[in-house]
Amino acid sequence: MPAAPVSNHGLWEATAPPAPDSAPLQAQGVAVDIAIVGAGYTGLSAALHAAEAGARVAVLEAQHVGFGGSGRNVGLVNAGMWVMPDALPQALGEPHGQRLLDALGEGPSLVYGLVERHGLACEAVRRGTLHCAVGASGLRNLRERHRQWQARGAPVALLDADAIAEATGSRAYTGGLLDRRAGTIQPLAYARGLAHAAVRAGAALHTHSPVTAVDDHQGHWTLHTPQGSVNAAWVIVATNAYTDRLWPALQEELVRFPYFNLATAPLPAALRARILPGQQGAWDTPDVLSSFRLDAQGRLVFGSVGALRGPGSVVHGDWGRRALARLFPALGRVAFEHAWYGQIGMTANALPRLHLLARNTVSISGYNGRGIAPGTVFGRALAQLALGRCRIDDLPLPLTEPTPAAFKALREMGYEAGALLVHAAQARF
Ligand SMILES: Cc1cc2nc3c(=O)[nH]c(=O)nc-3n(C[C@H](O)[C@H](O)[C@H](O)COP(=O)(O)OP(=O)(O)OC[C@H]3O[C@@H](n4cnc5c(N)ncnc54)[C@H](O)[C@@H]3O)c2cc1C
Repeated sequence: MPAAPVSNHGLWEATAPPAPDSAPLQAQGVAVDIAIVGAGYTGLSAALHAAEAGARVAVLEAQHVGFGGSGRNVGLVNAGMWVMPDALPQALGEPHGQRLLDALGEGPSLVYGLVERHGLACEAVRRGTLHCAVGASGLRNLRERHRQWQARGAPVALLDADAIAEATGSRAYTGGLLDRRAGTIQPLAYARGLAHAAVRAGAALHTHSPVTAVDDHQGHWTLHTPQGSVNAAWVIVATNAYTDRLWPALQEELVRFPYFNLATAPLPAALRARILPGQQGAWDTPDVLSSFRLDAQGRLVFGSVGALRGPGSVVHGDWGRRALARLFPALGRVAFEHAWYGQIGMTANALPRLHLLARNTVSISGYNGRGIAPGTVFGRALAQLALGRCRIDDLPLPLTEPTPAAFKALREMGYEAGALLVHAAQARF
């Protein structure tokens, strides 16, 4: 039996306020300054900031607002990447390494600032996130992260086994890292909220409008959709892990990593007082990691690596029930009301990629599972670039050529099959 009906956006679809009204593009040759392809956090943040600055903006989205990772994720608004902070300057060199650390460190403040400034109804809670250590190696990893963040002045605290048990309600962890910069949101509600704000600022939003071709007219680009076209001086490509064959190089560069979420019914008050009483979002240190958080109604949202399709919908659901019972014995045997999954775009060094695909055509992708704050940050940065307010060399990432991922298909199969095996093995005891 599957854990719960699997849908594209699960709990988030059931509880998010509606998106702004929008219709497919049906006119030809609509003139704008900036055309944005993709209505996730990156595209919508770019649209909002560019429209606020007075630019004429059109957002073209193949499906609907938040269809990609932005409507499916866990909702952890983090302040960095997966890699250790010191690894960024090592991987990118200076000045980009430090710039990226600074930009991402400020990311949650940008997200929560937009939520406040635009009154976005997205269950925003900023009480930190908890990275939970499993075993001695997990604790070593967090001690090192703590040391590196502290040396950079970040407001992080290392928790011992008792403190993380108090903070999570589980005795499964050997320690934890509390990052006070971070927090949680309802992901689809945040995407829809950004879309409302962008439309209010004057951006045109066209859903069910996949860009199928782009023509160069020297002075401007023409973006074609099945029923219309847009002429633009600048193109921002924000299609990320949900990119299609329009820009094959972008698709070939990212290795997709599946991640699923399962949501319970609202927990009784007595359990809510014990499980994540501080309302932080949490995840753990193993390679096949798990994450857990509460939504505004007290539902427990539990996630891990894997795709809910074929045997995965049974194996991962079964594993989820047992894993939760082990983590939180007081929960007993839970039932899940919602199940959904999505694809995370991974890169070789776990850092995003900035490309100039053609004249005045920029893309950013590969947030490696850390896209809420980075997507918002980079959307704004690309808007500033297209507005002529900064140069491409001033951005927090160096410009690179798209590079095909080695053994992409094999690795994608490996992630999906590996998670299946790990969860099947763990579900047996
Ligand atoms: C299950 C899961 C859990 C995650 N958990 C977290 C988390 O807790 N915290 C965190 O920070 N990040 C998390 N992430 C990552 C985060 O969700 C993504 O990095 C982020 O949403 C990417 O936003 P985006 O706007 O760049 O791309 P997306 O939101 O993927 O949007 C791309 C859009 O482009 C559209 N598109 C594609 N091709 C075309 C075309 N030709 N024409 C028009 N439109 C097109 C797609 O339909 C899609 O809507 C998670 C991701 C997943 C899948």
